[in-house]
Amino acid sequence: MKRILVVEDEPALQVSLVDNLTFEGYEVVASSRGDEGLELALENPPDLVVLDIMLPGLDGYAVCRRIKEMHPTLPIVMLSARDQSVDVVRGLELGADDYVKKPFAMAELMARVRVALRRVQQTSRPTSYSFGDITIDFEKMTAFRDGKPLSLTTREYRILQVFVEHRGAVVSRDQLLNEVWGYESFPTTRTVDNYIVRLRKVLESEPSEPQWIVSVRGAGYRFLG
Ligand code: CA
Repeated sequence: MKRILVVEDEPALQVSLVDNLTFEGYEVVASSRGDEGLELALENPPDLVVLDIMLPGLDGYAVCRRIKEMHPTLPIVMLSARDQSVDVVRGLELGADDYVKKPFAMAELMARVRVALRRVQQTSRPTSYSFGDITIDFEKMTAFRDGKPLSLTTREYRILQVFVEHRGAVVSRDQLLNEVWGYESFPTTRTVDNYIVRLRKVLESEPSEPQWIVSVRGAGYRFLG
């Protein structure tokens, strides 16, 4: 089930957004504040954010920019206030994927949400990837270094796939837990670290001084392949 974060401070509109998105089959989390919305988005990244611009705490532009810094591929649909076309341009410059001008028809917003989710699904999940002398095929689950096969488990392929999807960006341990383990079990962030140690042993020529999967103190990991 796709999870959508709605950040909108107008109570009636927030209720209407939550109801409609829930009816469409999404799991919905809502916030009325920009700062709280940002926190929710970074803590446990949703599949898409519906984001108002004028918000208490932190405005939609700042929220959009911060989310995109950490999660460049996370789609954001912005809700612009009436007659504020400048807002729209600025939002798109900051990386918003789409915008809907208030007042809007709910059906239009639902359609845009669907399109944005489909777009990210098509573009972001890599089927194969090469870096350095390593080539990985995520569909066949094969990996080679210089033509020699590497031994990786299903879980390790999935972790690498998440890294490749978010290459260059910080990936937190919680994000890895959500995207790789999901809600099937409750491993700890320590589990994640153990997997990273093992992945480095396989992929890095110098596991103690990794060049591909680097640690970002207090935040998580960054894949530089
Ligand atoms: Ca507002």
